[in-house]
Amino acid sequence: MEFNLNTMIRPHLAGVKSYQTLRDFFLNQKVVFLDANENPFGDFNRYPDGDPIQLKKKLAEINLAKTENLFLGNGSDELIDLTMRIFCEPAKDSIMIMNPSFVMYEIYAKMNNLQVEKLQLNSDFELEKGKFLDTISKSQAKVLFLCTPNNPTGNSIDDLEFYIQNFNGIVVVDEAYIEFSPEDSAVKLLNKYPNLIVLKTLSKAFGMAGLRIGVGFASPEIANLFIQLKPPYNISSESQKLALEQLNQVEEIQNNIGFILEEKKKLKKGLDQINGVVKIYPSDANFFLIEFKDAQLIYQKLLDKNILTSLRHPSLKNCLRISVGTAQENSELLKVLSEIN
Ligand SMILES: *Cc1c(COP(=O)(O)O)cnc(C)c1O
Repeated sequence: MEFNLNTMIRPHLAGVKSYQTLRDFFLNQKVVFLDANENPFGDFNRYPDGDPIQLKKKLAEINLAKTENLFLGNGSDELIDLTMRIFCEPAKDSIMIMNPSFVMYEIYAKMNNLQVEKLQLNSDFELEKGKFLDTISKSQAKVLFLCTPNNPTGNSIDDLEFYIQNFNGIVVVDEAYIEFSPEDSAVKLLNKYPNLIVLKTLSKAFGMAGLRIGVGFASPEIANLFIQLKPPYNISSESQKLALEQLNQVEEIQNNIGFILEEKKKLKKGLDQINGVVKIYPSDANFFLIEFKDAQLIYQKLLDKNILTSLRHPSLKNCLRISVGTAQENSELLKVLSEIN
């Protein structure tokens, strides 16, 4: 499929000059900073690096990518919103999403006044190729959001490349849970598909949700667009520093992922024994989507014991999404569930 980035960008953005911090020109020089109206006193008085190069280098190394492919957001949430703001014209363009999938795609689309076209997943929450080809042949959607492993269903998309290849527009592959999954990251497909954007986050497997760091990967041209058009200081200096410290201990992060996956196996075994459970959907992530006879009742009973689960997705009746916690949290969950029956 012929892809021309210039025809994808919202026309008026071609002429927009982004904010340029003067400091970026004097990075290796010792200068007195009287340029940004900061307070000269205090521990956090300076603006952070606008383009955190050290953090990006580390993230590139971990993800087997090049720094010129990378761009960072205040959580991948910000990058989802920016994708729409860069490529989609309000009151005119549409995006395409899987249904059910991560609810924020639709929320950001509404905030940006975009139409949302939905690809209905089958009863196993899989995309169907025939249906996909049929839908896109009638669609003008500029951006397709694919989520794999999918939230809230937990399963991975089979033959991801098929969808990237056949969509005539930008394809965003949201890999918020990929580190838990046995599947390969789509980052290795970047050279092959100029229309591909891969989103990752430090919020899930990396255990840094509080730092708000999302990581985007795309061609250097697309990465540059995001760097130009993002808010100037979207990653705080403390987040940059703390994330780098944590990423330098990547072994510990790996160990925690291993531990969560072990716990997930045990949790699955326990859940299999619970009476009110109708179905546990296969998951490549750190949560299970579980169908109960009466999800509302289970949700409330768990809440009565101070356990909060997620009963939210409009198209998933009688399902709860439950995250894998610590060994103690998981056994508490199982204990409460077994007492309900
Ligand atoms: C959690 C989640 C995100 C958001 O991550 P942040 O980086 O914390 O904004 C993005 N996509 C999916 C599918 C998620 O589940």
